[in-house]
Amino acid sequence: METRFFGTTEEDIQQAAEIIKEGGLVAFPTETVYGLGADALNPEAVGKVYAAKGRPSDNPMIVHISSKNDLSHLTFEITDDIRKLMDAFWPGPLTMVVPAAPVVPRVTTGGLDTVAVRMPSDPVAAALITSSETPIAAPSANLSGRPSPTSARHVIDDLDGRIDAIIQGGDCQVGIESTVVDMTGAVPAVLRPGIITAERLSQALGKTVEIDPAMNVKTADFKPKSPGMKYKHYAPKAEMIIYKGDREKVYLAMSEEKLRRTGYGQKVEIIMYDDSEPEKAAREFFAKLRACDKAGVDVILAAAMREDGVGFAVMNRMFKSAGYNIVEV
Ligand code: AMP
Ligand code: MG
Repeated sequence: METRFFGTTEEDIQQAAEIIKEGGLVAFPTETVYGLGADALNPEAVGKVYAAKGRPSDNPMIVHISSKNDLSHLTFEITDDIRKLMDAFWPGPLTMVVPAAPVVPRVTTGGLDTVAVRMPSDPVAAALITSSETPIAAPSANLSGRPSPTSARHVIDDLDGRIDAIIQGGDCQVGIESTVVDMTGAVPAVLRPGIITAERLSQALGKTVEIDPAMNVKTADFKPKSPGMKYKHYAPKAEMIIYKGDREKVYLAMSEEKLRRTGYGQKVEIIMYDDSEPEKAAREFFAKLRACDKAGVDVILAAAMREDGVGFAVMNRMFKSAGYNIVEV
């Protein structure tokens, strides 16, 4: 199919919204990563998103709204905790999993009776949702398994010719996907870390949210050579190795490894961020992986960051990108 390209003028967004209303697919910028949007209440449209991405159909999508009031159409149970987090963090990079109202098609929720909802702060995203007059289901606008797209160029590289339109906005400011918090249990639980940390959620709620301490740890049943590479997401084409330990030792080990591999004729890239700049790492990480692929890099050596605050979310993506290929020094 011929993909149409839009800018971010009001008229462009209006035309893109018409495509959403007609059941088409539109990629659009958000503050986290680019999303691939479809009318969340139209099962046929949502089905096309899975096909375009090559995404397994049991992997649910996030439903995006442009007004806090819209949450009451998607769920009938807005608890005090949900209200507190909505007031503290919406619009913004926080997704809440809530019980789904019957109007939400099961194809949108991956067959679950809960739905993940977010109100993005990006003005283009908000305008598209408002103009479409429907909530927009959107996973990240990449081919399944590839690093998430943080610029319009990344979306074009993956999805040109596979979707109806792409809104070409600027680069994403956050750079990693939203924090996902499950609000359906007795205690809210973080399912996916993001720049809104568990500590900030706990503070806003006045109680401690749950977060699996083993979230960033390779699980026992992980077999790196298993056919599906079950735990490999966000993967660059290059082999990726994470170096963990004392910063100076890490730098030395990476430099030596680079020298050794360059000697074999391999193209090697080093990724290293300071522990004091996890937000910068979040903003740039996926773009770096894609740049390495474009440059034909064979192996990426990445220094682990300290896993607290936003660093925990960055390391969550880094471990998955590398398929938990870790060297301790
Ligand atoms: P993506 O759209 O690619 O950012 O992925 C959406 C993320 O939200 C995935 O990790 C999903 O597993 C998660 N998610 C979406 N809906 C639900 C739900 N109802 N329950 C639990 N997790 C969800
Ligand atoms: Mg994704």
